[in-house]
Amino acid sequence: MDATSVIDNEWAGRRVTLMGLGRHGGGTGAARFLAERGAQLTISELADRGALVESLDALSGLPIHALKCGGHDENDFSSTECVVVNPAVRPDHPCLQIARAAGAVITSEIELFLKSCPAHVIGVTGSNGKSTTATMLAGILAAAGRHSWLGGNIGTSLLGQLRQMRGGDWVVLELSSFQLAHLSAGAPLPQIAVVTNCTPNHLDWHGSFARYAAAKRRLLRSSHTLAVLNPRDPVTSVWRFAARVSPSWPLETAGPLAIPGNHNRHNAALAAAAAEAAGVERPIIRDTLASFRGLEHRLQFVAEVASRRFYNDSKATTPEATAAALAALDGPTWLLAGGVSKGASFDELAQSVVRRACGAAVFGESGDQLRDSFLAERAAFEVFRCQSLSDALVWCWRRSRAGDAILLSPACASYDQFRDFQARGAAFCQWVSSLAAR
Ligand code: ADP
Repeated sequence: MDATSVIDNEWAGRRVTLMGLGRHGGGTGAARFLAERGAQLTISELADRGALVESLDALSGLPIHALKCGGHDENDFSSTECVVVNPAVRPDHPCLQIARAAGAVITSEIELFLKSCPAHVIGVTGSNGKSTTATMLAGILAAAGRHSWLGGNIGTSLLGQLRQMRGGDWVVLELSSFQLAHLSAGAPLPQIAVVTNCTPNHLDWHGSFARYAAAKRRLLRSSHTLAVLNPRDPVTSVWRFAARVSPSWPLETAGPLAIPGNHNRHNAALAAAAAEAAGVERPIIRDTLASFRGLEHRLQFVAEVASRRFYNDSKATTPEATAAALAALDGPTWLLAGGVSKGASFDELAQSVVRRACGAAVFGESGDQLRDSFLAERAAFEVFRCQSLSDALVWCWRRSRAGDAILLSPACASYDQFRDFQARGAAFCQWVSSLAAR
């Protein structure tokens, strides 16, 4: 019997509750993994069926014991052996407390993966730059001829690919603070762990910066993990770990990048250090990084219309990300920012906005807070408060001149007005195309 079948037998007949199916693929990945291995699976979901059409379609044909949408039933937590919890659920949720009190094991999609993965794993976390760094790293490993996989928080569950993974493969696993906060004390941890930076983020969920930082540090809990930490970040640079590599070589000598910004040089340096720790040779690292074109919605150049350059940085959902984007662009820049604040202060961002932008249009739920922060920094700064992203774009377009840049870099999450950051970025790009067509 091989290792996979031992793991598969582990679930046969066990009562498992999947708490939160979600729309991002992790829930459906976990449901498929468990149902295919014979678990008696109950899915307990807060949202109504209508909001989950794609996720429910992805489950069609699977032997699911019960599918309950529109709220959680305590009975599914008091009489289960195991709860697989969606990362968005807070660990102190009353249903999880019921399950714990009843002796159930609490686990997560990421922990299921780490427990079953035969390959080498490199974990990538941080407040900003996770996806960029993880994608660079997976690209370097592939260029070095490694069989590599990229997944986790970047959008895909890797559980469905476990059966194709082999011992010599390399997995780059992007991990959010929520996913890390749910890792249990006994979870296997990656051999190499990259932390891009640690600045206040998701404080509404974690409750404090200390707890948020503690979640990030969970990735480094094992003494067998080699830590690749950003030496320029004031928080991660003072974390001490026995096994630690310094990205200082790549910071100094990584060649020119095709993508703008000092922050991307830091991301590249961390990817390079992790790749080197995984045994990849420097020329391969340098060549792959030099040709990396960046990801959609991350400081993505959209178009030049009437000599104005438009950039879509919709993935910038923190103040630091927006400050990094402003610092990366040359010349006069008009900023579009707004959405749902994740609890961090905008005061430091305001300093870079009034220094680097010629004006800002602020929209959505946090528009007033952004406007007030900018005006508190400089009373004469030009700010336009509006409701929608399209109004913000029209204002920036009318105020701009030939040679200026117009940057969507919201510093906030998108959920007040858009399904996700991709939908927000796509809407921006579409409105830019319609300006071009006029
Ligand atoms: P994450 O996956 O952590 O959200 P991404 O790589 O998707 O990070 O980048 C999101 C946004 O954060 C980008 O649009 C860019 O504006 C900004 N960013 C990327 N890397 C960094 C960094 N190292 N420091 C600060 N901001 C960054």
